[in-house]
Amino acid sequence: MSRRKFLKNLGALGAGTVLTPLAAKLHSPSLLSPKKNHPIVISTWIHGMAANAGAWEILGTSGDALDAVQKGVAVTESDLTNRSVGLGGRPDRDGYVTLDACIMDHDSRCGSVAFLEDIQHPIDVARAIMDKTQHVMLVGEGAQKWALENGFPKVDYEVPFEEVQKEYEEWLIKSEYETDVNVENHDTIGMLAMDANGRIAGACTTSGMAYKIRGRVGDSPIIGAGLFIDGDVGGATATGVGEAIIRTAGASAVVESMRRGASPEEACYDIVQRLLKKHRGVEGMQVGFLAMNMQGEYGGYSVYNGFNYALRTQDRNEMVDSKYTRTWD
Ligand code: ASP
Repeated sequence: MSRRKFLKNLGALGAGTVLTPLAAKLHSPSLLSPKKNHPIVISTWIHGMAANAGAWEILGTSGDALDAVQKGVAVTESDLTNRSVGLGGRPDRDGYVTLDACIMDHDSRCGSVAFLEDIQHPIDVARAIMDKTQHVMLVGEGAQKWALENGFPKVDYEVPFEEVQKEYEEWLIKSEYETDVNVENHDTIGMLAMDANGRIAGACTTSGMAYKIRGRVGDSPIIGAGLFIDGDVGGATATGVGEAIIRTAGASAVVESMRRGASPEEACYDIVQRLLKKHRGVEGMQVGFLAMNMQGEYGGYSVYNGFNYALRTQDRNEMVDSKYTRTWD
């Protein structure tokens, strides 16, 4: 090949791109997924088992990853015994349950809703915002107004549930804000799925930290913090103390580590170490990450022991304990 023709070919790949023989090989999309590790779905905590089953109804019949994650986390939102997701969640310190959720696909399309009240499925609102508007995120009163106008019914109740109300009243006596998020059946659901066609998507939904200041929004509806997907690289989601996850752009940082070559578990480990460095001296701050790359490889890592996630593939349907740096005393 003449030097002129060679340079012209390189130009077609974009200015400054110089491909080594190996990189040139990897540029061929057919070589990018040597192992078929999908469909696959992973999601945070024990409530992820039922959520994965919901997602699998779509993934197992060659459906779309985006529809699967929406349907999957909606299962958790419907479970009114869950105290950290959906309308069964613990209230803010003024006694109101406020919900945060977001969803994202392999094409970087995303939708998000925060500080939403009295709507059963914030994840469906997030998806509708993504599909029907030019925006990514709606919050509070405006988000509720938009949801009602777009056919989402209002669920009306004054006090959530007797048990939740009782706990809240007990909490009010001392009014101590707890960030221990390791209690069973207590936490955000973040889900990552890859469908049979190799498309990846993620969803995240929560009622947030119990007894938060009214108006507080955590990481869960923030694209790049509680959830991030890049169809060239993979995806990540987070659970735990949302402020720490926002400060470190957690899910986005995990995806960027994978882009630089880290495995999903290594990428989660890296962000946990960074997060600890940025919060030197802070004790009892649990944060957990999950990640998946475009080969359908997955992994998780958390600050403290106790974080686990639900895994569903053709062959497996089980909980996996994540590795961690610290142990609770
Ligand atoms: N990340 C959530 C938040 O800060 C809390 C959680 O995962 O339970 O709102």
